[in-house]
Amino acid sequence: MKYDVIIVGGGASGLACALTLASSRGRGWQWAEGRKYLVFDTGSSDLNKAYLKNVPGLEPIRGKELIEKIKKQVHDWGGVDMLEEEVSRIERKDGIFEVESLSGKVFKADYVVLACGFHAFNIKGLNLEVVENPKSPKPGRVMIKHKDFEVEPNLFVVGTLAGLSSHFTSCAGSGVEVAIEILSRFAGKRIVIHDVPEEG
Ligand SMILES: Cc1cc2nc3c(=O)[nH]c(=O)nc-3n(C[C@H](O)[C@H](O)[C@H](O)COP(=O)(O)OP(=O)(O)OC[C@H]3O[C@@H](n4cnc5c(N)ncnc54)[C@H](O)[C@@H]3O)c2cc1C
Repeated sequence: MKYDVIIVGGGASGLACALTLASSRGRGWQWAEGRKYLVFDTGSSDLNKAYLKNVPGLEPIRGKELIEKIKKQVHDWGGVDMLEEEVSRIERKDGIFEVESLSGKVFKADYVVLACGFHAFNIKGLNLEVVENPKSPKPGRVMIKHKDFEVEPNLFVVGTLAGLSSHFTSCAGSGVEVAIEILSRFAGKRIVIHDVPEEG
């Protein structure tokens, strides 16, 4: 099965990326319709341990609850498959990414977004520069070098793995940035996704 975008990691940055991609649907944009997205996740987001009191505009909320809320938002837009599996290998063949899970499932994609956090990076098959993460107060955290979140053509990194400080809003923001970049490439022009209230 081939997807337009595969996101590896369904925490703060990966879910924000998926939500923005999905929210391009149903707007009458031909280039957005029929796109398929896949999120792989192993369920160990740092958000599971957090009680967030500093997310702008949100009442204090358990990270677990926030994850469920975002997953529902993604589901409501549609177009995003979610698989609770660990990605073990990513390779590019003839310009297309091949993404394999530990259980041996293989999917293809035009774009891959690495959103798997800064604790470790064990995915094989890519030749990436994985370095110590300078923004982490704890040693042993990693990041992948990139330019404007792009590691190599059509391969992006977001969140703490991109070297952002470990905060929900900055990590989620990078997921949104990358989603908009990918959507703009689909559209062939710069886009934004802005909604306005219905006048009552
Ligand atoms: C105790 C604690 C309290 C915190 N409190 C706050 C706070 O008050 N305010 C705030 O803003 N931030 C807080 N944070 C930080 C916030 O949780 C993180 O900054 C944020 O979750 C990082 O987002 P991320 O997308 O980079 O990684 P994560 O949210 O950690 O997501 C990474 C995801 O990738 C998945 N994954 C990893 N490898 C693979 C693989 N090979 N295949 C498939 N999936 C994979 C993991 O299961 C995980 O779900 C707190 C963190 C902790 C630990």
